[in-house]
Amino acid sequence: MNQSQIQLKPWSQTEDDAAETFASAEPALSAPTSVMPAPVGKTVRTFSGTSWPGLDRIRSIHALVPTAAALVWVVGAAVLPTNQPGLPPIQALGVACLLACAAAIVVTAWRTRRRAMAALELSIASTSRRAAGKWGAAALGAEIQPLWEAVERQTAEVTRQIEQLLEERKELGLELSLIAVQKRQAEAIIRSMSDPVLVTDSYDQLVLANPAAEELFGFKCPDALRQPLTVLVADEKLVALIRQAREADTRVARRRTEHEIGEQVFALTMSPVASGQSEDEVGVEHHGVVVLLRDITKERKAARLKSEFVAQVAHELRTPLSSIRAYVEMLVDGEAADEKTRSEYFEIIQTSADGLGRLIDNMLNISRIEAGTVRINKEPIAVSMVAKEAADMMRPAAEQKGISLSEELTPVMYRVLADRDLLYQAVLNLLSNAVKYTPEGGRIHLRVIPQEESKTIRVEVSDSGVGIPKEDLPRMFQKFFRVEKNKEMAKGTGLGLNLVKQIVETVHGGELTLSSEVGKGSTFGMILPLTQ
Ligand code: ADP
Repeated sequence: MNQSQIQLKPWSQTEDDAAETFASAEPALSAPTSVMPAPVGKTVRTFSGTSWPGLDRIRSIHALVPTAAALVWVVGAAVLPTNQPGLPPIQALGVACLLACAAAIVVTAWRTRRRAMAALELSIASTSRRAAGKWGAAALGAEIQPLWEAVERQTAEVTRQIEQLLEERKELGLELSLIAVQKRQAEAIIRSMSDPVLVTDSYDQLVLANPAAEELFGFKCPDALRQPLTVLVADEKLVALIRQAREADTRVARRRTEHEIGEQVFALTMSPVASGQSEDEVGVEHHGVVVLLRDITKERKAARLKSEFVAQVAHELRTPLSSIRAYVEMLVDGEAADEKTRSEYFEIIQTSADGLGRLIDNMLNISRIEAGTVRINKEPIAVSMVAKEAADMMRPAAEQKGISLSEELTPVMYRVLADRDLLYQAVLNLLSNAVKYTPEGGRIHLRVIPQEESKTIRVEVSDSGVGIPKEDLPRMFQKFFRVEKNKEMAKGTGLGLNLVKQIVETVHGGELTLSSEVGKGSTFGMILPLTQ
């Protein structure tokens, strides 16, 4: 194999290729005596005995000795006088030898450098440092050895740094994908929240908003992102609150306040959040704000109703209690001189105590139904039977006022899944009101009407009583509501109709109807689902 076959391959060449190149570049300087394993399983020819650098040295000396001798001889012959014209043959032979030796030196040096370069290239291109080191140490000339070792050290250092960088890049990549997943999860959580959430940056620009916030403030993401809050939120007070929360000391973890938007009341929670920007030149850390708006309108309304309810209960209890206390005092002080007066006082005390008892019973029943703690025993019940029982119960009171009480009942086959006692209580309350608010000589009609198409049954109590003013109709089923004009007609608590509502709607999933005309009478109806 001659030198023209040496192929210098690019840096990207594989270790195998490089090793083969080097092996093939080796000229037939001496006979191959052994086979040495290649770095990655290749069989490569090499030489035993003299090492490459030693061989080079010997060859150089071999070339230099005859060159020097020929040089001395030629110079001597030229300096010494001679009688023959031209160059004597022996001198011509010397010149030829000189030229041949010079050529040998040049060729040897060129081949040595070439081999060294090939070995160097192999070493640098090799990804296996051990293989490269072995080949490099064996192949390089002694004078290139230090250079090779420096290159090898440098290569090792660069390789180590590359490996370290690759490792770091891998770790950063993993960290990045983890952060991306966490970010997506956080966004998904915020978006799925039913309460409005806004996230702003250190310039009071919108960074994130969920659909509830979009609906509340009337903007749409992603168009609204990176827009100033002053543009997106018309409520200046709210924007100012968010700005104040951002400008506040970050050590104050969160701010809570209440804020009204239109008719809604919101509990605002504003928490500072690092915006990812570093501190500025004066060391102030930049941060945005996460704003959570929790709609507490219902809670506020419930709290208001509760305090109103407590005030009303106290008022309702005070009236019969005051009456009881006053008459008891008169009896104690002996103000009731005769038996007749005393028995009158006792009657008043008894009526007040009964009213007090009814009031407390109604309140307890209502609050138990509302709280879901009332014991309910539902079973298929013939509505007509229950309605008839209630009518029979009220008949004496109706007759006492000269009121006619008629019934129109359905066969018992029409049943509802109901609690008998509660259903009875509801029908009785409607009949009782009809008797109370119907003047003497009036009429009351009780009807139980099945409605096949809607699979319901309707219990209807109509009277020819005083009726209810139109403006009061929407408030008839509220707790403690009593029609002002009718108060004189009968004593009451204002809780009876609310209890009917709780029994029909909350307990039995039914519906209440009411139609009334002042001076003509009223019709209260309850619609209940039929059972099979
Ligand atoms: P109470 O009868 O104890 O006052 P209710 O809740 O049963 O309490 O009734 C509330 C109010 O509704 C009554 O005060 C009365 O003014 C009015 N009302 C109820 N039923 C009738 C009716 N059939 N006709 C006219 N007004 C009625």
